[in-house]
Amino acid sequence: MNRFAQKLRAQSISLRRGRPELLQVNVGKLCNLTCVHCHVNAGPKRKEIMTRETVDRIIDWLANTEIPIVDLTGGAPEMIPDFRYFIERVKELQPSRHVIDRCNLTILLEDGYRDLAEFLASKKAEIIASMPCYSAENVNAQRGDGVFEGSIAALQLLNLLGYGIDPELQLHLVYNPVGAFLPAAQTELESDYKRELQKYFGIVFNRLYTLTNLPIGRFAAYLRHNDRLDEYMQLLIDAFNPATIEGLMCRNTISVGWRGEVYDCDFNQQLGMQWTHPDESGIFLWDIDPDLLEHRQIMTGDHCFGCTAGAGSSCGGAIV
Ligand code: SF4
Ligand code: SF4
Repeated sequence: MNRFAQKLRAQSISLRRGRPELLQVNVGKLCNLTCVHCHVNAGPKRKEIMTRETVDRIIDWLANTEIPIVDLTGGAPEMIPDFRYFIERVKELQPSRHVIDRCNLTILLEDGYRDLAEFLASKKAEIIASMPCYSAENVNAQRGDGVFEGSIAALQLLNLLGYGIDPELQLHLVYNPVGAFLPAAQTELESDYKRELQKYFGIVFNRLYTLTNLPIGRFAAYLRHNDRLDEYMQLLIDAFNPATIEGLMCRNTISVGWRGEVYDCDFNQQLGMQWTHPDESGIFLWDIDPDLLEHRQIMTGDHCFGCTAGAGSSCGGAIV
């Protein structure tokens, strides 16, 4: 039994699923960036991307459910050839579903993608964009040279299209620490971001979500390389907050990989913790009935301490 499961047991907490409310689809590992903290190990040379056949199977499955939100992530989800097709098909469903694009911003200014922001606005897609700091130095250190300047230009473009201003065009930013520490309080950081981005760049946005870096993928390798993995793990364990359990994203999210395989969350996905049938063969989205998922036990590991530390961390930021 992993240390997280032991902790839950010691506190008589049972971590089980509620009703699925969000389908989070990780369409692949292809990305134009190679950020230090990336838990997906994404990058420009990765070949794992979703095919149209898989997109169609996911949409056909979704059409028979009442799941109201589809959250596209990656890599840079915009880079798969069928990104627009995916969103168009989701929006054609009856009833239509809300779409979230998890965007690294810089992709919106790359050749071949410059009309993408307009497309997203036309589909009323919500944008959740990574922006680990409002200072150039910190962003470029974590995400690469020039990423800050590109992100600022992309945010200005989104504002021009009405993002962050029109209530139907929601624009949220995501902060994650630039090192092995927990994020600061979300509301205070949000005020700082709003003040600084408005003052220096005239940028507005809706909410700031603070996320904790989970010790997996490239971030774990970075910690290991600096001999800080154990120390960071202990920091997360010591900050365990049982009040976060109720709001953990794995309770209402179905996470799907680029081949259609199913997980409890995107972190479990990167660790290969796919759901399995009793014969241990892997479960794919089209194998499951969303009405039968309530009370299903969630698969955990030591990395889960990243979601329950301090104010907690989920796809929608702090939990408590
Ligand atoms: S953190 Fe996001 S933008 Fe950075 S490499 Fe990973 S997927 Fe790409
Ligand atoms: S990593 Fe977080 S979201 Fe995923 S199963 Fe663990 S607690 Fe849940």
